[in-house]
Amino acid sequence: MCGIVGYVGKRNAQDVLLDGLEKLEYRGYDSAGVALTQRDGIRVVKSKGRLSTLRSKLEELALPQSSCGIGHTRWATHGEPSDVNSHPHSTPRVSIVHNGIIENYGALKERLIAKGYTFASETDTEVLVKLIDSCYQGQALQAALAKVRGSYALAVLFKDYPDTIFAVKRESPLIVGWGEGENFVASDIPALLKYTRTVYYIDNIEIDRLTPDSIEFFNIDKEPITRESTTIEWDAEAAEKGGYEHFMMKEIYEQPAAGRDTISPRLKDGQIDLSELALDEEAIRNVHRLYIIGW
Ligand code: GLU
Repeated sequence: MCGIVGYVGKRNAQDVLLDGLEKLEYRGYDSAGVALTQRDGIRVVKSKGRLSTLRSKLEELALPQSSCGIGHTRWATHGEPSDVNSHPHSTPRVSIVHNGIIENYGALKERLIAKGYTFASETDTEVLVKLIDSCYQGQALQAALAKVRGSYALAVLFKDYPDTIFAVKRESPLIVGWGEGENFVASDIPALLKYTRTVYYIDNIEIDRLTPDSIEFFNIDKEPITRESTTIEWDAEAAEKGGYEHFMMKEIYEQPAAGRDTISPRLKDGQIDLSELALDEEAIRNVHRLYIIGW
């Protein structure tokens, strides 16, 4: 399961993101990346492999300090682990990190291609960022999400809104963290514990806006809503287990979501679709043994 971290505030965002992503490494991942707001726009740095590879890349680049950014560790569902498929995915004015699966990404992609968009990666996430971009003149997030089927936790940066992170989720985990003059978003509590114990659990399809000094919660109709914060009492080890006594219990309870995430990219219009395996008829005829592996 992938990891998401977002930070806006007085510290160097790059350090907070790398720190947070490191705390989410236990969830497993195949690539990592960050998007950082810079004076001249949003700068994306990403790479296949371990977080240490991303860290070295960032050290080499020595970017100017940034007060706002989003980071991601990816667990590929659409497209192999590679630099280009890694998150964040971006257009010149929007950058996103995404956990989950956009079920109708094929149909959306065709429509976006017809509008003139081109695609570099094989991911459903690139479709999502270009969909948001295509809705840019209106309430971009709201309008794009109305067209999307599937699960997602998203952290979004818009070039025109520096020092602002938008967060939204549907079925995939995402929390918001509060700090004095700084705010956070993350897919799991361990990513935040070094910086804050005050978190907000957010609901499906609400759009939250974080700046260094404010967290605003909105429903999908853009009406402000109120959320109560929760103080996390767990230590780091308990937080990794999500409050369960053992990792085994946590994994058992995560099975429905894990099963759904594994199977749904391979279903199209209710039919099994294994076209990504590029198996032609002859290859299938040569298969003599089929292993069905359960968990
Ligand atoms: N579906 C997205 C991808 O394949 C996100 C995967 C994830 O949750 O890490 O890039």
